[in-house]
Amino acid sequence: MGLILELTRIVQAAAEAATPEQQVNLIVDSIQQEMGVDVCSLYLAGDNADMVLVASHGLGRQAIGRTRLEAGKGLIGLVARTRHPLNIINPDAHPNFVHVPDIGEENYRSFCAVPLVRAGDTVGVLAVQCLEPRQLSPEEEAFLVTLSAQLALVVAAWSDWQAAGLTPPQIFHGVRGAPGIGMGIAQLCDDSDLFSVVDSPCIDPGSVTQEWHALLARVQDDVSREQSMLGSALSSEVTAIFDAYHMLLADPALVSGVERAIAAGRDLPSSLRSVVQHYADLFMAMDDPYLRARHEDIRHLGNRLYSSWRGTHASTHTHAPGTPLILVGNQVSVSDIAATPRDSLCGVVCLEGSSMSHTAILANALGIPAVMGIGRARAIAQGAQMIVDANLGNVLVNPAPGVETEYRRLAAQEQAVRGRLQDLRDKPAVTLDGERVTLYVNSGLLADLSPGLNAGAEGIGLYRTEIPFMVRDGFPSEEEQLNIYRHVLDAYRGKPVYLRVLDIGGDKALPYFPIREENPALGWRGIRFCLDNSPLLMTQVRAMLRADGGSGALSILLPMVSATRELLRFRELLSDALSQLQEEGHAVVRPRVGVMVEVPAAIAQLPLWREQIDFISIGTNDLSQYLLAVDRNNARVAASYDYFNPAVVREIARIADISKQLDLPVSVCGEMSSDPGAAILLIAMGIRTLSMSAAQLPRIKWLVQHLDLPTAQGLLDSVMLQSDSARIRTLLTDFLLEIDFPGLRAAARQ
Ligand code: PEP
Ligand code: MG
Repeated sequence: MGLILELTRIVQAAAEAATPEQQVNLIVDSIQQEMGVDVCSLYLAGDNADMVLVASHGLGRQAIGRTRLEAGKGLIGLVARTRHPLNIINPDAHPNFVHVPDIGEENYRSFCAVPLVRAGDTVGVLAVQCLEPRQLSPEEEAFLVTLSAQLALVVAAWSDWQAAGLTPPQIFHGVRGAPGIGMGIAQLCDDSDLFSVVDSPCIDPGSVTQEWHALLARVQDDVSREQSMLGSALSSEVTAIFDAYHMLLADPALVSGVERAIAAGRDLPSSLRSVVQHYADLFMAMDDPYLRARHEDIRHLGNRLYSSWRGTHASTHTHAPGTPLILVGNQVSVSDIAATPRDSLCGVVCLEGSSMSHTAILANALGIPAVMGIGRARAIAQGAQMIVDANLGNVLVNPAPGVETEYRRLAAQEQAVRGRLQDLRDKPAVTLDGERVTLYVNSGLLADLSPGLNAGAEGIGLYRTEIPFMVRDGFPSEEEQLNIYRHVLDAYRGKPVYLRVLDIGGDKALPYFPIREENPALGWRGIRFCLDNSPLLMTQVRAMLRADGGSGALSILLPMVSATRELLRFRELLSDALSQLQEEGHAVVRPRVGVMVEVPAAIAQLPLWREQIDFISIGTNDLSQYLLAVDRNNARVAASYDYFNPAVVREIARIADISKQLDLPVSVCGEMSSDPGAAILLIAMGIRTLSMSAAQLPRIKWLVQHLDLPTAQGLLDSVMLQSDSARIRTLLTDFLLEIDFPGLRAAARQ
């Protein structure tokens, strides 16, 4: 299993390398390391079918490019000619052995080589050698054979392109920011990098402070202008994002932070950098991926201010109107998107960034395919032909003509699918056999509200209230929170809204309330933190109740609950808040209160909590983390963080059963809801409310409409027999392919 994973990694990395030299070196280095051999060398067929040593880990560097074995000569020639692997010890005793001077081969006592064959021709030979006289195991040999079959394709592609005098194609992998396929030419965005600014002193803090205020005003004007440019086309989708930019620009933490840095003797760019960096770092350190993504908004804004200060912020699009453009930048900003004519904009590629950034949110709202985080070092040339396959998170630069044709066909198909899904917007999610499923969105920023509504969400199933707490210098007041929650409830007027109380603590630290802990994931967080800071919780609950204004749309979600006393204490506080507000003359009603089932200890206690709660919402992100003891944000153990692990699937089924017995409404608000395969299982388990990202909602609605309960149940039964998550995924994907889940067949063919 390890070798297979490694194989995929090596082939992918090789396909992505920027130059042929990097590619071949990466191949030999990775194989040497993974197999624990002393030498790995790659020979490629030259003119007259001779074999040229093009890369080696272990043999003398001077031999690379110079060592050339005539066709059929030596062990390498033998493998090339016979197209069969050779796996031997004491290679110098083999009749075909030829001594090649100066490369130090004579020291190695074992040898294994496999041919790279493409369309029946040997295009190269991959060889490994060890000092020890040990023959490679059949598994190791099979690994090399499998690898060589794939490498033959990768390596051959380079030579074809070079022979044709064309720029070779490149594929980069990132994450999906907004779905779809876009094709066009690369338009590089201004990448003013505030974060590379070095500290410089300022001589006259007074005039620099004035300059700072002028800069703020100028950028505020620019943002308003861009907002109105886009607004005429799509105002409701994008207004909130620009509002968030305005909010950040007016934030006292930014404005006075920079003033203080200037007063301390720094020039404007370095003052700006230190303040923006400070806030971006705070967000970056958070373990919640949504909140972590907010650091990108802050960095965008920092770069935006910096480029305006440098006078470089001007539209540089010089293409003929209607030229299809793919915006490419470290962090393509909201204003880059706004400044590009909508009929030209076909895709967005960010070298940095995550699927939760504002750029991704805006791309989603505008329906522009976006791929995020393809890596800093990727050089894409201005004007290069590009394909953005955001469904798979792939970016193709200078694609082969055949690939381009195939993508044009896929893009046309996609367009048709999108049209069909848009038609579903106002239709209910009902299974083929008449079972109603309620689809909500997850949200957490005012800018997210429109995409959810546009996707046809029936409410907000999870509103993460953390953000207003994090962008300030201190705890937001009741009035400030009231404004925010009112905005959310108003946007979804008449629809249910589940506001979660502050899920702070652990890595989600507040800048003005530092918490240092040995083991933050198991520490002072969620409801524990809230109850220990009850004045804070009281303020938040009062703001929530006042925002609801007695409409009854509000439900309150409690995060990370693990003990009965937490519920009892919250209920007491809620009753106090209600009486206070009633006495003050506010119209309020008791909201429904539920717990997030995230801590495994909650599961067994649900029957004990029946009288205290009105519903539960399964937070599969944390539940998976705590059931599997796998940090959800640690890349090293990412492969083990898997909600298809049978333990997670079984526990969720158990929660669904318990809630049925207790007649307790249950929903799922973790990422599992957005995954079509997982959604089938959740529905089969009896869960009828799913809360997910706005981008996925239309497809999940399509799924519900093409599913019947006996089929879902049959799949769940098969899944329950599996002991391996990979098998579970395959079962579900096969079914989704069978029903032609939108976009999946096209993705599977690539
Ligand atoms: C979860 O844990 O599944 C969840 C929805 O909450 P968050 O991702 O905000 O921790
Ligand atoms: Mg959680």
